[in-house]
Amino acid sequence: MKVIRVHEFGGPEVLQLEEVPTPRPAAGQVLVRVHAVGVNPYDTYMRNGAYTIKPPLPYTPGSDGAGVVEAVGEGVKTVKPGDRVYLAKTLTGAYAEYALALGNQVHPLPAKITYAQGAGIWVPYGTAYHALYQCTRARAGETVLIHGASGGVGIASVQMARAIGLIVLGTAGTEKGLELAKREGAHQVFDHSKPDYREEILKATAGRGIDLILEMLANVNLGHDLKLLAPHGRVVVIGSRGDVTISPRDLMTRRGSIHAFTLWGVIEAEEQEIHAGLIAGLENGTLRPMVGKELPLAEAPRAHTEILQPGAFGKIVLFT
Ligand code: NAP
Repeated sequence: MKVIRVHEFGGPEVLQLEEVPTPRPAAGQVLVRVHAVGVNPYDTYMRNGAYTIKPPLPYTPGSDGAGVVEAVGEGVKTVKPGDRVYLAKTLTGAYAEYALALGNQVHPLPAKITYAQGAGIWVPYGTAYHALYQCTRARAGETVLIHGASGGVGIASVQMARAIGLIVLGTAGTEKGLELAKREGAHQVFDHSKPDYREEILKATAGRGIDLILEMLANVNLGHDLKLLAPHGRVVVIGSRGDVTISPRDLMTRRGSIHAFTLWGVIEAEEQEIHAGLIAGLENGTLRPMVGKELPLAEAPRAHTEILQPGAFGKIVLFT
């Protein structure tokens, strides 16, 4: 099978297209013929060797994908060969024509969701679900600022927050990204490349501030976010690419709080709830994964370069 392998940590060029034997599923495992692979920013941090999780080399990147069950190992009862599925983590890496996964890492892909869309479920939608439901318990009627609404996690969060009755404000850095966030459910959008956009956000809340901020770039925004919070407001740090200075007094005066998590840390019971919620939302049309760009597997280096550039527009997906 064709597979991307990394033999040394480094830039996008270390993503090598290779041929390796197709694995076979052992007991409890599922072999999936992967048709589409979701590219996430963390794939690039891991490839650099700068991430908290450093896989033993060589490794194949990727936790997100969608395809068809090829074979199942002894004891697997939840899926069978021929089933359409999406992957939420794997044993052997998703950037490949075939991936081995544990039975509980493979989930049914609703009929109306394409493979390319299915590749953008786990990390983006799992993160949005955990942030809104499990981490901060967002409530209908609250105001949420999705700070970075044009990317994978942002669009998922916009759709989910709108569906559960929040007042949704979203930011993006391009006209295309702003339009996408609006189309997917944001009540109002703001350009985070403009110098005065934070004042505009505050004005949009009539000066009261924001109840909940989902933050995709905390190293740039966290200190400013605290000044945008309403009384008892909370920020959830989803993405950060460096250090930041904050003024704790901004939190104290508002009785605010900062939450943070990584999706790797969710426990099994939370994960089961996440998948049940996501599958229901995908089936009823509330959740509509947005594929911005599709590239062949061999162009994984290009995907890793582009995902870190400004101008996000939903997901970048590799097809095999
Ligand atoms: P993505 O698809 O590449 O999108 C990145 C988003 O960040 C875009 O909406 C982009 O907007 C926005 N952005 C750029 N500059 C910004 C600024 N100054 N202020 C606010 N937003 C800005 O990435 P993603 O998959 O949505 O992930 C977003 C971040 O969350 C990444 O850092 C990722 O590593 C992290 N993440 C963390 C977890 C976790 O478990 N904690 C899970 C998933 C993702 P424009 O391009 O329109 O400017």
